[in-house]
Amino acid sequence: MIVFCVVLALVWPYDFVSGIITAMVVGTVVVFSVDRHYRSEEFKILGLIQQMTFQIPKCPNCGKEIPQGDFEFCPFCGNSLKT
Ligand SMILES: [Zn+2]
Repeated sequence: MIVFCVVLALVWPYDFVSGIITAMVVGTVVVFSVDRHYRSEEFKILGLIQQMTFQIPKCPNCGKEIPQGDFEFCPFCGNSLKT
C-alpha cells in the first residue's frame, strides 16, 4: 500500500504533497472497499462450510446425513436420534 502511495505521488502531475494526500485518500477507499468485500465473501464461505460440516446432523447408527427438519428417528434406518 505504501508503494502504491509513493508511485501515485511520483506520477502525480501536481506537487508531491497533494499527490501524497490524493494517494492516501484513494488508497484508504480502495483498501476499505476491498476489505469489506473480502469480509463479506469470507463470511459467506464460512457459513457455507458451517452448513456443510457442522449443521448437517448424522445418524449415529448408520452415519447417513439427516435432511433438514426435526427428525426424532433416522429416516434411513429408524434409529432414535434423541439421546
Ligand atoms: Zn440411520
